[in-house]
Amino acid sequence: MATAVGTATGTATGIAVVENLTLPKYSIGVGDRFAHQAKAQLQACIKALDAGVEVIPVWNKSNREHMIIGSEPTQTRAAADAAVKELGWKLPYFLDADHINLNTVQRFLDPCDFFTLDVADLIGKPAKDEDVKAFLGAHPELVGTVTIPDIAQSFKTDKAFVEGVAHRFLAAVKHAGEIYRLLVEEKGTGRFVPEVSMDETDFPQTPVEFLIILAMISDEKIPIQTIAPKFTGRFNKGVDYVGDVKQFTKEFEEDLAAIAFAIKKYGLPANLKLSVHSGSDKFSIYKAIHDGAKKFNAGVHLKTAGTNWLEELIGLAESGGIGLEIAKEIYAEALAHKDELTAPYATVIDIDDGKLPTVAEVDGWTGKQYVASLRHDPKDPAYNPSFRQLLHVGFKIAAKMGPKYLNALEANEDVVAQNVTANLWERHIKPVFIGL
Ligand SMILES: [Zn+2]
Repeated sequence: MATAVGTATGTATGIAVVENLTLPKYSIGVGDRFAHQAKAQLQACIKALDAGVEVIPVWNKSNREHMIIGSEPTQTRAAADAAVKELGWKLPYFLDADHINLNTVQRFLDPCDFFTLDVADLIGKPAKDEDVKAFLGAHPELVGTVTIPDIAQSFKTDKAFVEGVAHRFLAAVKHAGEIYRLLVEEKGTGRFVPEVSMDETDFPQTPVEFLIILAMISDEKIPIQTIAPKFTGRFNKGVDYVGDVKQFTKEFEEDLAAIAFAIKKYGLPANLKLSVHSGSDKFSIYKAIHDGAKKFNAGVHLKTAGTNWLEELIGLAESGGIGLEIAKEIYAEALAHKDELTAPYATVIDIDDGKLPTVAEVDGWTGKQYVASLRHDPKDPAYNPSFRQLLHVGFKIAAKMGPKYLNALEANEDVVAQNVTANLWERHIKPVFIGL
């Protein structure tokens, strides 16, 4: 276990945070597009607690999703608070302003106590020469052979390499520092959990680059508690990991070692952990994540959310009648507006057009057939990842339906909630945090 609430951390570089809000070791990013499933999500954390493992819920919804739906972060806060109250949850919980930057942070300030500082857009923007020089001057230990005690291997670097990394990432980290300082001004030191995210970019960071970035973050005095690098392989929305699992496993462990090293060497908070974004449904790497965390006695933050809406659709289809009709209508509209719906998610979905069923086919389906195509059961031959990914980005259609959709959700609350809870508990919390 990493830290206790109220521990002063980061003495080595003067990051002193007293009485800080501390993110516990295991946490899961939950949330849903229409703020209707907070209770069902919390039920999954309660199941974990009943099984003896504390998994803390962090309700997240990014600015992009709020924009598409026309919702406000205060609604997410109200839904989370109501669920916590109703189910008597006594452990911490958080509200994540997911992927915000200086331009978008304003409306998240009040309701949120967890901020994901998104610096991906600035990766590759050239840093000032004097900043790069200062960084190199301050970190001679990063040039040459960098040995991380926790892994057998050490990294070899030279000045040109570290300089290159600084040129690529320093401007982004400095920007994170700016957002962080604004948050401190607005909310107060230690009154929120900071995360830095670098996942929504085209180039994965290698473990040695990651270590250099951690040194930069420490220099900016951002007491990050979680960090989301871009890992190797594809993390498409709502479907399994696509990539080399062995390579992922190796990198994940090296990243964990880099974090352990950076905590000691650079005084970052002792509970600093990896955050896995687009973490839903990455079944083939959950064992690696679980085993790596165990091996390094490290925490994990697994960010999910988007697929809760698919569980709503599954519940509606299962309910039959008007629920199934709505689920079919949403598919038809999503197919008709495919380009518009997929555009904001271009880097994180891979739809094979040839595998998308026609509207007429889907119209003829029973609820069972709809569910079998949509539910992520890799063993079911009817499971269709292209169908699933298109519907994943199709929530805008449901948002446009307004009360018709929301009324159907409410009318079928039980079956929808069962699907939401079972998905988080069986397919996510169990393999990642419990190792089942
Ligand atoms: Zn992300």
